[in-house]
Amino acid sequence: MKLAVIGTGYVGLVAGACLAETGNDVICVDKDEAKIRMLRRGKMPIFEPGLEELVRRNMAEQRLSFTSQLPRAIRASSVIFIAVGTPQGEDGAADLQHVLGVAREIAQAMNGYKLIVDKSTVPVGTAEKVREIIRRETTHPFSVVSNPEFLKQGAAVDDFLKPDRVVIGTEDEKGGEIMRQVYAPFTRTGAPIMVMDCASAELCKYAANALLATKISFMNEIANVCEVFEADVDQVRRAIGADRRIGPSFLFPGVGYGGSCFPKDVQAIVKFTADKGYDFQILKAVERVNHRQKSVLATRMEKHFGSLKGKTIAVWGLAFKPRTDDMREAPAIVLIERLLAAGAHVQAFDPAAMPIAKRLFGSTVTLTPRSYAALEGADALAVVTEWNEFREPDFAKMRRLMKTPVVFDGRNIYSRNVMRANGFTYYSIGR
Ligand code: NAD
Repeated sequence: MKLAVIGTGYVGLVAGACLAETGNDVICVDKDEAKIRMLRRGKMPIFEPGLEELVRRNMAEQRLSFTSQLPRAIRASSVIFIAVGTPQGEDGAADLQHVLGVAREIAQAMNGYKLIVDKSTVPVGTAEKVREIIRRETTHPFSVVSNPEFLKQGAAVDDFLKPDRVVIGTEDEKGGEIMRQVYAPFTRTGAPIMVMDCASAELCKYAANALLATKISFMNEIANVCEVFEADVDQVRRAIGADRRIGPSFLFPGVGYGGSCFPKDVQAIVKFTADKGYDFQILKAVERVNHRQKSVLATRMEKHFGSLKGKTIAVWGLAFKPRTDDMREAPAIVLIERLLAAGAHVQAFDPAAMPIAKRLFGSTVTLTPRSYAALEGADALAVVTEWNEFREPDFAKMRRLMKTPVVFDGRNIYSRNVMRANGFTYYSIGR
């Protein structure tokens, strides 16, 4: 099939490369010309495991190409994926200007039947809005389907190639049929393709992210309660996770959720349901708990040191989660801003997010080329992102480098006994 993917971010680029991998001809479009130039040279604008190799292979096979010229891509394709950003607007609602703008551009470039696939995360009713815009601009036949994306940054390629399920919202047979063909190679091992109406499909994505965010905030509250009663959240987590109705995954307490999805999607569903008169109470609490949780490490440090003025704090992990360079809404940002405001000096390291951190913090934070360099002369270490390479460090070397051996572990990656045996003053979450 001839496909176009509009937007070459974490979703669009991964989708484009994976769709080319199954033999389709894919043109990826982005209005950011610098990004397109990089991609044409085989350089990735984002860090995502396995992506570079996949992109290069499919470019070499001439199945994957990049352009900033949207009309050309539309004319050459029969199926067009919209994967542009839907950032949070000022009132919490998803900002649809990119999606609706692209819909208009697609309509103006159409030269025959097109299937337009909404892959961006959008509020209920957006497929209908896209349909209206296209209807106004063209007399060519078309279908609009909703196809929310569930991939996880850090495992995006794998998730796209082996999805748990594919959700397709459609109001017409033809659109649904073509989408089944597009996804057939990714669902051979039995993952279901779930075809439904557009409103349900649009809501699926928000419901999934909202439930995951709820699990995180819930476990963070349980961890806080464990601290009040001197209980151990690891024991509690394992015990409740063994209940098949609950399950063991996504029950890890930490320093709150970040990223480009959970924070904005939770706020967007609260907003678009409020617009219909519904008061989404649980999600308002989820959001408040998360906001508070992002400050737990800084608060604990202030309590430990009395004052942070003049202290040197090492930070391991800046990305909002491991295996990505994305720092959007990252808990590390909240921590570092608090430390700087309190007069501390910050020395930070992340395996992938250093270029983004440099743009964000400039010279206000010392960014070190290696993890251990961040520890030199530090009064304490804060672990904010649970990258694998932080899990089994050389504790003796850490002690030698640090001024005082104090560790604030925001992800519970170390054993309390091991830390005690190695002479660290050790704080973690809910233990
Ligand atoms: P992103 O910000 O990484 O990428 C969006 C891209 O779209 C950018 O490169 C931007 O330049 C481009 N763009 C914007 N307007 C354009 C236009 N008019 N024409 C061409 N290109 C344009 O965003 P992302 O993280 O890939 O997310 C995209 C959508 O997918 C969002 O709705 C998001 O909520 C959703 N989503 C994201 C994830 C994730 O893990 N990041 C997962 C599932 C769904």
